[in-house]
Amino acid sequence: QRKPIVIANWKLNGGLDLICTSVASFIGKHFAAQIAICPPYLYMRDMMTFLQYSELQIGSQNVSRYESGAYTGETSAQMLKQAGCSLCLIGHSERRAMFAENNEGCKIKVNTALNHGLLPVLCVGENREEREANITEQVLYKQLSEGLGGLDLAGKDLCIAYEPVWAIGTGLAATPAIAQQVHQYIRAEVTRLFDQDTANRVRILYGGSVTKANASELLQQPDIDGLLVGGASLDPGHFVAICEQAS
Ligand code: 13P
Repeated sequence: QRKPIVIANWKLNGGLDLICTSVASFIGKHFAAQIAICPPYLYMRDMMTFLQYSELQIGSQNVSRYESGAYTGETSAQMLKQAGCSLCLIGHSERRAMFAENNEGCKIKVNTALNHGLLPVLCVGENREEREANITEQVLYKQLSEGLGGLDLAGKDLCIAYEPVWAIGTGLAATPAIAQQVHQYIRAEVTRLFDQDTANRVRILYGGSVTKANASELLQQPDIDGLLVGGASLDPGHFVAICEQAS
C-alpha cells in the first residue's frame, strides 16, 4: 500500500504573506497523505520555523548535481537536507524547457538526492506536439530510462511525477482515464528498468491543472498515488481542500 503524497510547487511565486497563511491553514490538521510545499529557496527557512506545529514538509524545486565547489548559484542536496528539506523536484518541464536540463543531468540529481536522504521527485511528461504525434510512450521511455536507468534503488524511496506539458497552467488537466493509462505505462516501465518490487513501491504523482474539483477523481485511479499542484497551491484554502481528498 503506497502512502498518498500531495506536493505544492509554488514556482517563482509567493512571499512572506503566503508562507504565513499557508502554514496557518495546516496547523492542527491531520492528513492521510504526506504533504509538502516547495517554496522558493529564500523562504524555506521561514517555513521551517513553523513546521513543528504542523505535519507539513518542505521540498525544494530543484537541487544541484554538484556536492560543493565553484558552482555559482547552486544549492546542494546536503544543504537542503541540513536545512530540513524532505524532498526535491527534479527535471520539472520548466527547467527542461527554459534551463536546458536533460535526462542525464536529472539522473545525477536523483542519485545525489538519494545519497543525501532527500526524496527525489523526477518529473516527466510529453508536450502537446508529442501527444498529437502519438509518441507519448516513446518520450516517457527516454525520460525514464535515461533519467533513472542503472541507479541503485534498493530500499530507496522514489517518486515520479507525470506532468504532461500541455496540462501545466492551461486549465486543461488530463482526464483521469488518460492519466491512469500513462501512470500504468510508467509503472510497467519501472518494472522493466528495475523490478516488480521497485515498481510497486514507487509513487507516481499526477500534475497539470489539478484543482479541488478534479483531485478526487484523479486520486481514485489505481496508479495515481499523489498530486503535484502548481497554481491551485497558491491559494491556501484551495490547497488544503485538495490535500483533504488524498487518503
Ligand atoms: P499547474 O497546477 O499550475 O498546472 O502547474 C503544475 C505544475 O507544473 C506543478 O509542478
